[in-house]
Amino acid sequence: LEESAELKDAELKPRAPVVTVMGHVDHGKTSLLDYIRRAKVAAGEHGGITQHIGAYHVETDRGMLTFLDTPGHEAFTAMRARGAKATDIVVLVVAADDGVMPQTREAIHHAHAAGVPLVVAVNKIDKPEANPERVKQELVAESVVPEEYGGEVMFVPVSAKTGAGIDQLLESILLQAEVLELKAPDDTPAKGIIIEARLDKGRGPVATLLVQSGTLRKGDVLLVGGTFGRIRAMLDENGKAVDEAGPSIPVEILGLSDVPGAGDEAIVLADEKKAREIALFRQGKFRDVKLAKQQAAKLESMLEQMAEGEVKTLPLIVKADVQGSQEALVHALNKLSTDEVRVNVIHGAVGAISESDVNLAQASGAVIIGFNTRADAGARKLAETFGVDIRYYNIIYDAVDEVKAALSGMLAPEKREEIIGLVEIRQVFNISRVGAVAGCYVLEGLVRRGSSARLLRDHVVVWSGELDSLKRFKDDVKEVKSGYECGLQLKNFNDIQEGDQLEIFEVREVARTL
Ligand code: GDP
Repeated sequence: LEESAELKDAELKPRAPVVTVMGHVDHGKTSLLDYIRRAKVAAGEHGGITQHIGAYHVETDRGMLTFLDTPGHEAFTAMRARGAKATDIVVLVVAADDGVMPQTREAIHHAHAAGVPLVVAVNKIDKPEANPERVKQELVAESVVPEEYGGEVMFVPVSAKTGAGIDQLLESILLQAEVLELKAPDDTPAKGIIIEARLDKGRGPVATLLVQSGTLRKGDVLLVGGTFGRIRAMLDENGKAVDEAGPSIPVEILGLSDVPGAGDEAIVLADEKKAREIALFRQGKFRDVKLAKQQAAKLESMLEQMAEGEVKTLPLIVKADVQGSQEALVHALNKLSTDEVRVNVIHGAVGAISESDVNLAQASGAVIIGFNTRADAGARKLAETFGVDIRYYNIIYDAVDEVKAALSGMLAPEKREEIIGLVEIRQVFNISRVGAVAGCYVLEGLVRRGSSARLLRDHVVVWSGELDSLKRFKDDVKEVKSGYECGLQLKNFNDIQEGDQLEIFEVREVARTL
C-alpha cells in the first residue's frame, strides 16, 4: 500500500501557481497585469503581438507563474460559485495613496472564504502621496498581517507605472507558491477550466482554457459543460499555435460545438460519442428536476468511471455564524483530504443557509454544513424538494468527525488476502471430458468451494486461480476441514501432479478508515 502511495506521489509533478489580481477600483489591477505581461511574456517569434486570451503565463529565473488576466471579483466569485477553483494565490492590489477601500475588504473576504492565500502589492509607490506604512496598518485591521508584524502575508511595494518592485512581487508569489506545494499529474488526460469564451465570426466558438492537470493535446476530444468537440487548434497567449499544454498553462482552443461558460469544467474523454451524449444530456439538464437528479447521478458515475484513478471528492458548503469558526472549520475539514479522497469546500460563508446555497449544493452534489447557523424557510423548503442534505453542528469536532466518517466510506476497500488452508494432492484422476480431478487430503485449516488457490510444486507457484468443484466422495460440499479427504478440480488447469500442494486463500474486501 505504501508503495502505491509513493508511486502516486511520483506521478504528481510541481506546477506553476495560478494567480488572480484583485483590489479596489483604480488601484492598478489592470496596469499591473499589463506591465507584467508586456515585460515578461516571452514574445512570439513573429514580432510578439500578444493577444488577450484571458490568461497568460510568464517565465522567471525562479519559475513559471500564470496570471488570470481578468481583474475583479466577479470572475473569481462566479467561478467559485460553480464549484471551480481556478486560483492558487490572490495578489491584492492596494494603492499606497488611497489605502484600504470597500472593494479591498471584499477581495480579502473572497480570498479568505476560498482559502486562497494573499500576496499584497502596495501599488503606486512612485507617487509622492504614497504611504505604504498606512496601508500596512489598515490591512492588519482586516486580519491581513505582514510578516514583519508576525503574520504570514508578504507585502511588496510596487509601481505598475515604473515597474519598480515587480520582480520582487513575482518572487514573493513564487515563494508563497512553494509553501502550497502545488502539484498535478502531467501524463493523464487533461482536465481544466474555462476562463473565458466567445463566438468568433470566422473561427466559431473560441475558449480560453486553463489546464489544471494532465496534458491537453491538439486532436483531443473535450467535454465542457453542455458542449464538446475535438480540438482543432490551440494557441498560446502570443497567438502562436501549440500542440500541447500541461498543468497551469492557459491556451485558446478552437473546435468546440458551442460557446461554453466561464468557470465550466473541461475534461478530455477518449470517446467522442460519450462526450456528445453527456453534452446533450447536460443541455437539457434542468428541465425536469426529478429526472435530472436521476440522470445527474448516472452521469456522475459515468464520469467517475471514465476518469479512472481519480481522487474522489466530497463537495461541501460550509455556513457558519462567524468568520472565525467558518475558517477554523474549513481548515479542519480540508486537512482530512488524502491522496484518495478529498474534501472540496465549494462555498464557505458567514450567515444563514440560503436558497442560493441549496441551489449550489443541488448543482454540485454537495452536502451543506450549518455551524451554529440554520437554514431560512425558503432554503428548507427547497432542500426538501431537491433532497439536498443539510447537517447542523455546534461543535467543530463533531462536524469533522462525521465528515471523516463519510470520507472513509468513500475509500476503496482494501483487498486483503487470508490463507485459510493447505491441501496435499495424493492422487490425480484424468477423466475424459471432465479433466484432472485431484484426490486430496486437507493438511491444515480448511478448503471452501469457490476459494482461490495457488498450486505449489517444490515450493514454486505453478498456477494460481480458483477451485472449480469440491466433493467428498460423490457429494458436492461447501467446505472440508483439516484431517479429511476431498476431491477437487482447478478452473482451466489440468496439469496436476501427485505431491503438489494447494495453498487455499480467500480475498476479502476490508473497509478502511481515515
Ligand atoms: P484598476 O481599476 O484597478 O484596474 O486600475 P487601473 O490599472 O485602471 O489604474 C487606475 C489608474 O491608476 C490609471 O490611471 C493608471 O494609469 C494609474 N496607475 C496604476 N498603477 C499606477 C502606479 O503604479 N503609479 C501611478 N502613478 N499610477 C498608476
